[in-house]
Amino acid sequence: MAPTRILDGKAIAATVLDECRAEAAHLINLGTVPGLAVVLVGDDPASKVYVGSKVRTCHELGIHSRKIELPAATTQDALLEVVRSLNADSAIHGILVQSPLPPHIDEEAIVRAIDPRKDVDGFHPENVAKLALEDPTGFVPCTPAGCMKLLETAGIDTHGAEAVVIGRSMIVGKPMALLLVSKKANATVTIAHSRSKDLPAICRRADILVAAVGRPEMVKADWVKPGAVVIDVGINRIEDASKKSGFRLVGDVAYEEVAPRCAAITPVPGGVGPMTIAMLMKNTLQAARQQRA
Ligand code: NAD
Repeated sequence: MAPTRILDGKAIAATVLDECRAEAAHLINLGTVPGLAVVLVGDDPASKVYVGSKVRTCHELGIHSRKIELPAATTQDALLEVVRSLNADSAIHGILVQSPLPPHIDEEAIVRAIDPRKDVDGFHPENVAKLALEDPTGFVPCTPAGCMKLLETAGIDTHGAEAVVIGRSMIVGKPMALLLVSKKANATVTIAHSRSKDLPAICRRADILVAAVGRPEMVKADWVKPGAVVIDVGINRIEDASKKSGFRLVGDVAYEEVAPRCAAITPVPGGVGPMTIAMLMKNTLQAARQQRA
């Protein structure tokens, strides 16, 4: 078998970010400084890292960013008020409320309060509908959009391929399945989840296997058809005393044993993660462009 291709999300994201930088400069020339607001409630350490890198990437591209940090005790009404004021703010084209939110806040209500034209996460029902309808004016959730961009840039043919997506969340699994089954990608898609029977057998059917579960190294070598393409969305912290932080990141795929069987695989970190941020920047520019029109 040919050596496994490691799909370098960092490098592919860098090319997307170069395009974004050029588009941001173009919009600024036309008199619109693209603006993204990122709202963080509480002090979840992983969320802080994500928000930090989103803001930093905006800065690198010339996109205006506003970080709004609120205490964990923020009420739902207060958060809704923040969202409403961002909806009305013409300097802000994209709004992202970092999840998870504290348990006393109804995440769904917050998502619905975001102006769908500024919903760069693509979680508002109007954007979910547009994804299902394959309407390009909608916003596609960043992580599955990043996975598709990765496949496309790597030249992986999805047409007629058997694709299996493990996970049915609205953030990754379901939109990923919709993108794979779209007329642009034309894969035959199975969505597996926590109640699926004989998950290894379902996975073994896949030419393209996407794991978005949140269980460290769950997908084993004998779940993977030789020559498959494996996209590992999972980001899991596991204890590692040898690291200064006390943990390391692993995916949902047992990388060491699975990689030798695959035609191509994404590493964790450095695979899907960087693509997610790049697609957020792309969505922010789409929002700025559409709000100018
Ligand atoms: P989620 O918890 O919302 O959904 C997990 C899904 O996995 C559920 O649909 C559930 O049915 C399924 N599942 C759970 N246990 C299972 C099992 N034993 N067998 C089969 N299916 C099972 O999670 P999510 O938000 O979709 O995220 C999934 C993973 O992706 C997490 O590790 C998360 O950190 C990661 N993630 C990464 C990025 C990125 O940028 N790379 C972005 C978002 C999420």
